[in-house]
Amino acid sequence: MADIIAEVMAHLPKDAEITSCSFEGANIIVYTKSREFFLDSGTAIKDIVNLIKKRVELRPDPSITTDMEDAEKKIREIVPAEASVSNVLFDPQRSQAIIETEKPGVAIGKTGEVLREIKKETFWVPLIRRTPSIRSKLIENIRMVLYENNDFRKKFLDKVGKRVYSGWTRGRKEEWVRISVMGAGRQVGRSCFLVQTPESRVLLDCGLDVAGQENDMFPYFDTPEFKIGEIDAVVVSHAHLDHCGMIPLLFKYGYDGPIYCTEPTRDVMALLALDYINIGWKEVKKPLYTSSDVKEMVKRCICLNYEEVTDITPDIRMTFYNAGHTLGSSLVHLHIGNGLHNFMYTGDLNYETSNLLAAANTSFPRLETLMIESTYGGKDDNPPPRRESERELLEIINKTAERGGKVLMPVLGVGRSQEIMIILERAMREGLIKKMPMYIQGLVWDVTAIHTAYPDFFNSKVRKSIFHEGQNPFMSDLFKQVAGQKEMQQVIESGEPCVILATSGMMTGGASVEYFKALAENPKHSLILTCYQGEGSFGRRILNGEKEMSFGVGEGRSEVLKMKMELYNISGFSGHSSRNQLINYIYRIEPKPKRILIIHGESSKCLDLASSLHKMQKVETTAPRNLDAIRLR
Ligand SMILES: [Zn+2]
Repeated sequence: MADIIAEVMAHLPKDAEITSCSFEGANIIVYTKSREFFLDSGTAIKDIVNLIKKRVELRPDPSITTDMEDAEKKIREIVPAEASVSNVLFDPQRSQAIIETEKPGVAIGKTGEVLREIKKETFWVPLIRRTPSIRSKLIENIRMVLYENNDFRKKFLDKVGKRVYSGWTRGRKEEWVRISVMGAGRQVGRSCFLVQTPESRVLLDCGLDVAGQENDMFPYFDTPEFKIGEIDAVVVSHAHLDHCGMIPLLFKYGYDGPIYCTEPTRDVMALLALDYINIGWKEVKKPLYTSSDVKEMVKRCICLNYEEVTDITPDIRMTFYNAGHTLGSSLVHLHIGNGLHNFMYTGDLNYETSNLLAAANTSFPRLETLMIESTYGGKDDNPPPRRESERELLEIINKTAERGGKVLMPVLGVGRSQEIMIILERAMREGLIKKMPMYIQGLVWDVTAIHTAYPDFFNSKVRKSIFHEGQNPFMSDLFKQVAGQKEMQQVIESGEPCVILATSGMMTGGASVEYFKALAENPKHSLILTCYQGEGSFGRRILNGEKEMSFGVGEGRSEVLKMKMELYNISGFSGHSSRNQLINYIYRIEPKPKRILIIHGESSKCLDLASSLHKMQKVETTAPRNLDAIRLR
């Protein structure tokens, strides 16, 4: 294991004055006491990288870094005022200075010259972070948790690296790859898959079925091959509860390893988990986990960018690619056993450029097995094009506003809501609909704030309008944050037309249900459903035409509500691919996979897509059930 460290050390020049060498996940960090070598290591580091094909980073030994107070003063002098530095934090164990700024580009300088100057003047390694344009308490908290746990993080990341480079600890045997379906087999919800090789145990997603009942909400944790103490790594494709909702629970059960995801996924995942706990308390159900489990999760997140290749176990190398579904959502590509097998899990995917994101990536170095979602994979799942849906949405809003009504849109906090915000902001700016307030309920607002911290994940059009035209659609003053019960009441009681975006999208709880109760009996209001409505969810019951529903009002009593508001279902804003897009995606993907596993769809849709693809593409297709285990190699 220490072999790789010994190899790095052996290739460094004698006068480099190396004091230590450790891991940060799969990266190797070398600390030097020589100021000269730190500022100019020539080709020494590059040569080692070429030799061992791993990322190697050079940092100053903590003993040569400038005193923090002086360093902060110098940093603030060096970084141009235009960058608006909001905060400078130090990670003394890792010799890093974290600089939070509104304009990272300015703080970095044209070719990184500002960073070089900081290094030269302070002997700290500068790290630039974007201050979100909309202030986010959550991002501040997450950054603080990471900052306060610097010492823990250093040891933890070194431990992860030791495992990655440990070689074969479970004994080298015949090579094989196997995947067990612990959830999302012929269903939408509770995504969870265990990838095993003789050496590695990797969990892909760990979600809950939001619309499920108590006994079928969770993944099959009793799958015989799932042993929490043996899991090497957990990978999260994106921050929707049906993919990440059970992650904090793993820590409660004793998991102690890394969570791999993108930065936006980490932040939104933490937010959703905290919100989930909160809803649990409100409904007087004991939450499954607490905020301290969420904190343990955040402390162990290893964030990666798209197309950044990383070893996550001795025989699995992982790469994320854009999935086009939500901010930071990833296709998860696993290169297993030094070329033995290449596997890709799509998470949820959208093969269409939306108003917010670019279409899912189609080109990969190698690929033998593709495991793809099929939420809208059924024969009839070809919703109208996005443009048409946009027109329909604006029409409904105009009509409702004309009769003085409000438009309630239950949305998923992540993805669809921001997509709709962009459409409505543009429509009001261009005069296609009357200007009216758009009320953004708490969670949606917080998620939007997180969006403003990571504009690099948007599609090129939105990026361009933010970076080059200085126009951030999320900063429009037509958006009004609704922070609590009192403000919510004011929105309900105001006589003015407005649009309300509130979670949950399937109306399984949360503000969307509260608003619905208040507005449902008045025919001048409109309800617009835009996302997938899970079987058994309240949203699905409304879609199925239920007009009278009873609600508990406490003390065992209930009230009957007669639904009179207008109901619309617009499916064109989906963050998922339609059936045609799924088929098209598989047709375009390069290289062509030899085998396709179809998951994350209702039973009939999975089976139907599997048989259609088999006929069209002449590939082996399988629609595994929960608890099925499939040998890939
Ligand atoms: Zn999703």
